[in-house]
Formats: sequence, structure tokens, C-alpha cells
Amino acid sequence: TLPDAEADAQVRADDRAHVFHSWSAQALIDPVPVAAGAGSTFWDYAGTGYLDFGSQLVNLNLGHQHPDLVAAIQQQAGRLATIQPSIANDVRGELARLIADVAPDGLEKVFFTNGGAEANEYAVRLARQSTGRRKVLSMYRSYHGSTSTAISLTGDPRRWANDVSDTGAVRFFGPYLYRSPFHASTLQEESQRALEHLEQTILLEGPATIAAIIIESVVGTNGVLVPPPGYLQGVRELCDRHGIVYIADEVMVGFGRMGEWFAFQAYGGQPDLITFAKGVNSGYVPLGGVVISDRIAAHFDTTPFAGGLTYSGHPLACAAGVATFEVFARDGILERVRDLGERVVEPTLRSWASRHPSVGEVRGRGLFWAVELVRDRETREPLVPFNASGSDAAPMGAFAAAAKKAGVWPFVHFNRTHIAPPLVITEDELVRGLSAIDEALTVADGFTA
Ligand code: PLP
Repeated sequence: TLPDAEADAQVRADDRAHVFHSWSAQALIDPVPVAAGAGSTFWDYAGTGYLDFGSQLVNLNLGHQHPDLVAAIQQQAGRLATIQPSIANDVRGELARLIADVAPDGLEKVFFTNGGAEANEYAVRLARQSTGRRKVLSMYRSYHGSTSTAISLTGDPRRWANDVSDTGAVRFFGPYLYRSPFHASTLQEESQRALEHLEQTILLEGPATIAAIIIESVVGTNGVLVPPPGYLQGVRELCDRHGIVYIADEVMVGFGRMGEWFAFQAYGGQPDLITFAKGVNSGYVPLGGVVISDRIAAHFDTTPFAGGLTYSGHPLACAAGVATFEVFARDGILERVRDLGERVVEPTLRSWASRHPSVGEVRGRGLFWAVELVRDRETREPLVPFNASGSDAAPMGAFAAAAKKAGVWPFVHFNRTHIAPPLVITEDELVRGLSAIDEALTVADGFTA
């Protein structure tokens, strides 16, 4: 794109005057105006391109302006732009069938929503209405969305200002060996002790009061926390033993991010409800949903489900979802994610861990990795404090600025940077982006003890 200072000024002026932004003190932000995007790159109005290493909000799995997705939306818009949800519609039904086909046997039905928070809201309502119970267990260090139920379940600082009493949310600690809440020193210990802690939580809360346990199959924004061996299977067993519904939040990690349709498929443990959004159609039109087990679906065969949305299964969104499945199959997206993850990303990140004093741990799979930055590798003191903002967060700000200067838009959260580029990124772009981050890490090294 050509530099266009006038357009830049207009976009900035309209935005600053009229757009109220998420999660922000409005006067303290300066959103970058973006002029265009293609594949893994987007450009500002000065003509500067950035490799998008966060895939926007880890949703742009097939990159910007994918021709198949754009064409599918255009064709659907020309044919039938919208239709209300109580009517049967071809693309809505086709997408539901495609999703059920890649979900495990025994999960055949899909309720569509407009995004991830709503998917979790509806999963909880399905669990509550089908069990007649109310409480829901969720993890500290989790994010489930920003609507009332979803934010109550969230186990990170975004919940603090939204806390209301009596939401039925109860939090527990999940496994995180690098900062083990269980004083474990091996993955096996971490897995076993985390399960014991969860079981204690269930027993003390009262199993008969608990409708569901909701878990990000791999914790996303809060650190790419990969479940240790046996953990998700153990959650499944606890749920079976106590009649609790197991909800897998796959909003961030589903649809190829970890090289699987759903991340739990890499780690085991079959959920009763799977929530998805983001990657289902790369966010070209807002879409999310819940895949529902036959047992829970059967509860609503003769009892009406109490819930609905005007835009449930919107045809434009579903058309982009159907096209997503076509692209995944034709271009072997899952295979290339696994290949690039194993062959390019993992060895590169391991080399950073040995070369950069600021890198405490790297972890992940496929095209989703966390690089956890520390002041001191011995004490593991985080490079910036938990929930740091303002000047406390300056070291991460300096790292991010260096990455941007080198042409990469990094994903930064607290003391971590995540590697989450579009799944269609070329190998050359991936290598180029990783070496830009490698260089930016020398800035982080400057803040180590
Ligand atoms: N669940 C997880 C794991 C997420 O990462 C997110 C968003 O980042 C959500 C739920 C909420 O999705 P949405 O922002 O589409 O409501």
C-alpha cells in the first residue's frame, strides 16, 4: 500500500473522537490505523508492513483476505445474506455437519453463537439446564470471555472489575509446572497433584452442586499452558464419577492452532461440550458455537432449550466456515502446522532458551508457543510483575517496540510473548519473523539481573 498521510490522520481522528475501545483507558491509548492486510502481513498508512505474529487476537488462522473465504462470503451475500435461526439453512447445516465430523464420535449437534464468550455462556446453560445444578468450576489463569458468565469464570485480572456475587463460579489451580502451585518437580507429579487438588475442590464444594468444569484444553492468553500427561483424562474421570459436565474451551486453540482440529485431540480426554469461535472462520464474520454430546442433546429432545440468538448460525459466517474446511483439506493445513511447529518453531525457540538470559521457558505445539521472560533464570522472577501496566511493564514494551521496528507485530501478555502467526504463513516469513523476535529478545536480555 502507498503512504497516505491524509487517510491516516482521518482514521486516527475518527477513532480517537468516537470509538470506545475494549479493555482500555480511552485517553491513554493510540491505536495504530491499519490500511490493508494480505496473508500474514498487515500495513499501516505509512506503508509499513508487519508480520502478524499474534494472528490479530489469535483468530486469523487463514490470514488476511484469503481468496476462498472472501469468495464464499461474497457468493453467500449474493444468494441469501441472512435468515433467522428457526429456519433450516443449507450452509448452517453443512457447517454443523462438518464440525460434528471432526469432533469425536458421540458429539453430533452444534449450537451456533456470535463468538467465544457466548459459546461459553451457552455451554454453561446447556450444562445447568441438563444437570439441574448451578456451580461451574474454572481455572485460575484462564480466559473465557467478557459477557457476565464468561467473565465470572475467567481466572485472570480481567475479571476483577467485573466480579459480582453469586455467579456460581468456583476457581481451582490448573497444572503449570514452571510455576507449580503444587511444588511438583516432574510433569507426572504436576498432573497427579493438580488432579488431587481438583478432586478436593469438587468434594468440598459438593459434587451434587456442580454443573460443569470448564477448561481451556491448552490455556491460551494466560500462557500456552500445555496439559501434562494424563491431566485431561483425569478431569474426564472426575466428571464421570460425579456427574459433572466437562466443557472444553477450544475458542483459541481449536481449528488448527495446535495442529489438530481440537487441541484436546492431542492430549486426550473427551469433553461433553466443546466451545469454539475464532479459527472456525478466521473471524471474517463473527461466529462461535458449542458442539454438544448426544447425551446432553437428548435431554433437550422433548424439553425445550431455554436460550437463543437472532444471529445463531448466520449464513455469511457459516459460508466462511464451510470454506475454511475446504481450505484445511485442500492445503493440508493441520499437517503443515505440525510440520512447521516441529521442524522450525520448536528448535528455534529451544535455541533462544539456551542463548537468551531473559528466556525462562518455552512451551507449546504446532503454531502456538509461549516464550516466558524472566529477570533471573535461577529465581524465575518474571521480567515484569503479574498484571504489570504502565512503567512496570516497560521491559515488555521495549521488547515489543524492537519487534515492531524489525517488522513483526508480536503478541505480548504480562511477561510473555506468544508465537501465534497465521497457519498459512510461509516458511520464509516464519523464519524471518522468528529471527526478528530473536533480535528483539536482546532488548529483554538487557533487563535481566
Ligand atoms: N475463550 C478463550 C479461550 C479465549 O481465548 C477467548 C478470547 O480470546 C474467549 C473465550 C472469548 O471469545 P470472544 O472474544 O470471541 O468472546
